[in-house]
Amino acid sequence: MKYFSLNDKNHKVSFEKAVVKGLAPGKALYFPEEIPALPKEFFQNLDKLSKEEIAYKAIKTFVGNEIDEDGLRNILSKTLDFDFPVVPVSENTGTLELFHGPTLAFKDVGAGFMAGCLGYFVKKGNLGKITVLVATSGDTGGAVANGFLGVEGIDVVILYPKEKVSEIQEKQLTTLGQNITALEVNGNFDDCQDMVKKAFSDEEISEKRQLTSANSINVARWLPQMFYYFFAYKQLAGKNKKLAFSVPSGNFGNICAGMLAKKMGLPIAHFIAANNENNVVTRYLKSKEYAPKPSVQTISNAMDVGNPSNFVRIMELFDNEFDSLSQQLSSFSYSDEETRKAIKEVKQKYNYVMDPHGAVGYLGLQDFLAENPKYYGTFLETAHPVKFLETVEEVIEEKVEIPASIREVMQKEKKSIEISDYAELKEYLMQ
Ligand SMILES: *Cc1c(COP(=O)(O)O)cnc(C)c1O
Repeated sequence: MKYFSLNDKNHKVSFEKAVVKGLAPGKALYFPEEIPALPKEFFQNLDKLSKEEIAYKAIKTFVGNEIDEDGLRNILSKTLDFDFPVVPVSENTGTLELFHGPTLAFKDVGAGFMAGCLGYFVKKGNLGKITVLVATSGDTGGAVANGFLGVEGIDVVILYPKEKVSEIQEKQLTTLGQNITALEVNGNFDDCQDMVKKAFSDEEISEKRQLTSANSINVARWLPQMFYYFFAYKQLAGKNKKLAFSVPSGNFGNICAGMLAKKMGLPIAHFIAANNENNVVTRYLKSKEYAPKPSVQTISNAMDVGNPSNFVRIMELFDNEFDSLSQQLSSFSYSDEETRKAIKEVKQKYNYVMDPHGAVGYLGLQDFLAENPKYYGTFLETAHPVKFLETVEEVIEEKVEIPASIREVMQKEKKSIEISDYAELKEYLMQ
């Protein structure tokens, strides 16, 4: 499979190159040249296949023969070593829990898969040493740190906005050591993301270091997120109802992977992009005008993104046609107050504890179902509520049990380097 640049359809590279480079020239995103349709029998027989087998069949065309069968199966079995249950919440609503991985957020799958692919390529060949440079609004950092920890030939540098991630998130990305370095940025997530993008196009840095991204702009982070939707469908096919998925969205990688799965034939009828007050897409679907704004801080901080990178990929999936996009995608946006209220209500009514991101997804789904009562709706629970302990405990007025893995990380010592601007990032990377 080749990948082309969304800025220049004639610029095409292999899967390996797309993974190693992260971004195409001019900060553009890579996109697969073809989207393979999976046979009908595959979907009909999904309930007989293991998750590893489903994932293998779904992703193998995208990888081609650049990773051999054993290598790919090995990466998948390590990456998918936990459960992805759909848990019923009410009569017509369930939640796909994506937080059973090592850092308790859905990004573990993308990060694990990317670390596996990059580790494979480094081991196989003559790539030399690689630096993974990544900006995080909260959960990417921990997932990437954990996925790449100890992978030979790869250094990881994580930029995160000072005081804008939760305590657990911060500990998960600052305490591992080894090949992982955390840079604490005086600024917001957009500042971190801008600095990362700038570093990629800085020739002085690229002479010194081979950089790649581990944000969902990297195809190896983005593509494996499609698995969630296949795993959910396997559990939901028996409902015999049209299926809607509500995805709490920030950089729009996760929902875009779901829409890709649909394009491959997965029978999902509708998507809902649930936003917090960083709602450029909600506004776009209303006004047809795409007007990014600087991000604002919310209690669902992993979605505090003013200008979502992956939205161009969604547009590409729909040939940049607004009308066909808006038939398959709805979007709603919610304030922190509405989010808190939803967490409280769902706990009281259904005894289910949502994290703030899942709660935004829940709200989007309820608004959609109110207009479309014949659907069965699933919202994605993208993080364990314990990752947002303060907010959740305050709202439900109860203690949330802390898993042992988290208690352990909370006791470790934070190690970070503070930086304020691009010059300081460059200085670090050039040393
Ligand atoms: C990253 C993240 C999101 C947003 O996902 P995108 O793919 O960037 O849209 C939502 N919820 C949680 C908990 C996250 O960590």
